[in-house]
Amino acid sequence: MIPYGKQEIIQEDIDTVVEVLKSDFLTQGPQVPLFEKAIADYVSAEHAIAVNSATSALHIACLVLGLGKGDWLWTSPITFVASANCGFYCGARVDFVDIDLESYNLCPMALEQKLAVAEREGRLPKILVAVHMAGQACDMQSIHRLSQRYGFSIIEDASHAIGGRYLNQSIGSCRYSDITVFSFHPVKIVTTAEGGVATTNNAGLAKKMCLYRSHGVTRDAEDMTEVPHGAWYYQQVALGFNYRMTDIQAALGVSQLKRINDFVKKRHMVASKYDQQLRSLPVVVPRRSSASYSAFHLYIIRLKLAEISLSHREVFEQLRQNNIGVNLHYIPLYKQPYYRAEGCSEDFPNAEKYYSEAISLPMFHHISDEQINTVVEALRKILL
Ligand SMILES: *Cc1c(COP(=O)(O)O)cnc(C)c1O
Repeated sequence: MIPYGKQEIIQEDIDTVVEVLKSDFLTQGPQVPLFEKAIADYVSAEHAIAVNSATSALHIACLVLGLGKGDWLWTSPITFVASANCGFYCGARVDFVDIDLESYNLCPMALEQKLAVAEREGRLPKILVAVHMAGQACDMQSIHRLSQRYGFSIIEDASHAIGGRYLNQSIGSCRYSDITVFSFHPVKIVTTAEGGVATTNNAGLAKKMCLYRSHGVTRDAEDMTEVPHGAWYYQQVALGFNYRMTDIQAALGVSQLKRINDFVKKRHMVASKYDQQLRSLPVVVPRRSSASYSAFHLYIIRLKLAEISLSHREVFEQLRQNNIGVNLHYIPLYKQPYYRAEGCSEDFPNAEKYYSEAISLPMFHHISDEQINTVVEALRKILL
């Protein structure tokens, strides 16, 4: 089976991790701050807070932005469940904004219309999670303008997008958002096995996220409500979690990050090869926005079903039978039983159309030309 995504671990990555295993610190040592500095420098953000997953990063990002009971979090329905579950973790309610069918990102026009209605009804969102689907940036300028008008905070879920750019700035610079979140799960662009990072330019938010990732406990006397009892003293000032990244993971991250630009460049080369070879087939290939340089986490095609005798499901299953590890990113969140039970709205025509046509082809930077040919030839046989 050609997988839809795959990490690349080289000897240098292994050596770096082994060094940490032989050192004094497996966790809470020097590697996590090194990784955080490397990320902050790479994306040009003031602060980077490493945690054990993007899911944890989304959770503490919502908490420090004050999300709570009675609040609304809005996001795209076409994303992984973690983009919205963070709202439920905080006791908030979740609603969606339909996608546009060019970028598969949340549509700024649909957002504007929904905000106008929400304002009249007194249920404006506190947080909008802008997901950079497949690695291509959302229209952040429009979203940011609307946040100024309607007063919501913005979290960029850039789990797909490290190494990408928007209007010539790195994704993660938080030029148009409060916090950006990255994932380092092995299918993503660079990996720490499990892991995530939140970046921000707001020192207050950064400090609070550090607190929340480690039990809500501080050793800084300035942040305590009483004088320390002695040199041993620490104080719990909030209900935090153990969301820390280990030094082993951080070291792997530092090592992987050195190759990120090469990874993304190669992903673009893979995408161009697919584009060319798929030209004669009844499929829509990914559109590139001129404002964005995609990190190309995913290569998503849409089937032109009117020109194909098989159904979407049949094409997908036949690809799998041909050992092509295709996937579908994503099942619209409002179709999940958990979301149905929460009473989330379900009327999103573009998300529906997308879900009825989309297939993610295998995409990783070290996929071979032969593997690309195998994927395309399997598709050709099935579709024509
Ligand atoms: C992978 C992913 C996440 C979750 O990342 P983890 O690091 O596995 O917690 C969140 N959002 C999106 C869009 C993702 O693709």
